[in-house]
Amino acid sequence: MAKKYEGPAIGIDLGTTYSCVAVWQEQTNRAEIIHNDQGNRTTPSFVAFTSDQRLIGDAAKNQTASNPSNTIYDAKRLIGRKYKDIQNDIQLWPFKVIAGDDDNPMILVNYKGEEKRFLAEEISSMVLTKMREIAEKFLESPVKNAVVTVPAYFNDSQRKATKDAGSIAGLNVMRIINEPTAAALAYGLQKRTNCVEERNIFIFDLGGGTFDVSLLTIKDNVFKVKATAGDTHLGGEDFDNRLVNHFVEEFKRKNKVDISAKPGSLRRLRNSCERVKRTLSYAFVTTIEVDAVFQGIDLSSSITRAKFEEINMDLFEKCIDIVKRCFVDSGMDMSSVDDVVLIGGSSRIPKLQQLLQNFFKGKDLYSSINPDEAVAYGAAVQAALLCEGIKNAPNLVLQDVTPLSLGVEVIGELMSIVIPRNTPIPVTMTKGYDTAVDNCSAAKIEVYEGESLKASENNLLGLFNLPTPCASHGHPIKICFSINEDGILNVSAEDENSGNKKDITITNENGRLSREKVERMIQEAENFKAEDTKLEQKVKAMNDLNEYLYHVKKLIADNDVSSLISPVDKLKIYTTVVKGQKLLDGNKHEETHVFVDFLKELQNMVDSALYKITKGV
Ligand code: AMP
Repeated sequence: MAKKYEGPAIGIDLGTTYSCVAVWQEQTNRAEIIHNDQGNRTTPSFVAFTSDQRLIGDAAKNQTASNPSNTIYDAKRLIGRKYKDIQNDIQLWPFKVIAGDDDNPMILVNYKGEEKRFLAEEISSMVLTKMREIAEKFLESPVKNAVVTVPAYFNDSQRKATKDAGSIAGLNVMRIINEPTAAALAYGLQKRTNCVEERNIFIFDLGGGTFDVSLLTIKDNVFKVKATAGDTHLGGEDFDNRLVNHFVEEFKRKNKVDISAKPGSLRRLRNSCERVKRTLSYAFVTTIEVDAVFQGIDLSSSITRAKFEEINMDLFEKCIDIVKRCFVDSGMDMSSVDDVVLIGGSSRIPKLQQLLQNFFKGKDLYSSINPDEAVAYGAAVQAALLCEGIKNAPNLVLQDVTPLSLGVEVIGELMSIVIPRNTPIPVTMTKGYDTAVDNCSAAKIEVYEGESLKASENNLLGLFNLPTPCASHGHPIKICFSINEDGILNVSAEDENSGNKKDITITNENGRLSREKVERMIQEAENFKAEDTKLEQKVKAMNDLNEYLYHVKKLIADNDVSSLISPVDKLKIYTTVVKGQKLLDGNKHEETHVFVDFLKELQNMVDSALYKITKGV
């Protein structure tokens, strides 16, 4: 593997609900999960906008209930997708999403009293910026390079959009790797001594919003993905939603009030449902209490694990069907699997574990790896591998596969596959085609991704015309598909007679952000950062003043000191303290310098009064 980057480089697991960052540590010879400013090892993928600031992570999630329409989460469920494809999600989100250019979803928020619109890439970039800052604080140095993970089942536009999010965050995304593959790296390093023998491992990765499974073989430190399958829209949030619906119905029955269209009530209920779900992973029954969920009425109820399983059973079974598909694709038998590794927070659900264990005929599941951190751990390992001069970086080689078949539309509206799914990447494959009509001056090439025989039922990645001067029926065209290490596709076509060649610009035609747009967003992100810094400075100035006022109040209250200060100085100081308190209480909109200047003035006043005492003036 060519090493081209300079460290420090980090690994980021950009999750639907939580994100995690890690870095390879030369001293300890392992990847370190980095905790955030709250001391948590994962950070909510939440961004909130208020009347005076932008919040990211825990701070954003903590104020969700009071500001539901301006608290954005689930950007991963929006990224790289079209507005028409997210209609079911929209109904569940308390924030507003509209159709923007090219049918790209735009998130609407109110920030500092103004309406602002964001693409999912921009929201994800804010989360990535936060993860980068967490790492920078820990490493005490700037971080530029990162490996970012995506679900194995992410399609081409979702991968590209994630890469764009990295660019907007000012990161150089060295590589996009698949989440289960990253987890396999973490597993491989934990089982380090056994990496020489061949082992087949099955990764079951069920997170907050996505589900992925991968079958890999590890031999001589080479990690080869054999097959992958998944659903980019299946995860813990779907189980939460089922619980929400259950309690909304129950509330309706008991109180004759429908809260299904009340964003604030729903958000608070959803937060409680997530807690209920987690509790049911170790308890058989639990209670739920949401005070004054609507119009002062409390929601108070209980639910058993059996009921939770019943209302989610079809989703659990869907997971097992996907597991089966992965084995069919790989041509491998499940009995050849050495370890079934559980990854992602939702893999803790006992019923799922039981169904999975049944599928593997009672085999013990491997759960010695932290399901919330393994992906970031693996990403940090990959980041170290890509960097120059990292000491003790593990000696591993990773070979992934493409999750979806890629091809072009041919006569009869059929999909002709050029690269079948689960082909190892990077890969370049070429296929010859003939034009279907006489005297055409250009051949229209439509590139699709997906498994349906009918091209239009798959995902259109882009289209372009290849000039074919006066071509008759049967004119030969060569089409070349090439997928790089990030799983990102490039397509070129060549008219074999004229030598005309054309590359597809899937990137722009499929709504991917143009270079100019990314540049503009980077600028906006910097403006946001500048605003955040400005606010931080103001908060610091207000805190400093507050602390000093407290100190002076104590000083005046202390009779020993106070009796020595002249009555004139004491009155002056006292009046200024009262003014200072008023300034803090009522003038949030004042500029930072107002607080800084006020503090200086008060400090000078107090210093001079104390000086007079020491000098006996
Ligand atoms: P991840 O994307 O891997 O961080 O997974 C986050 C998802 O895991 C969220 O939907 C969480 O609610 C869910 N989760 C975390 N812990 C548990 C648990 N003990 N039982 C069930 N779900 C959990």
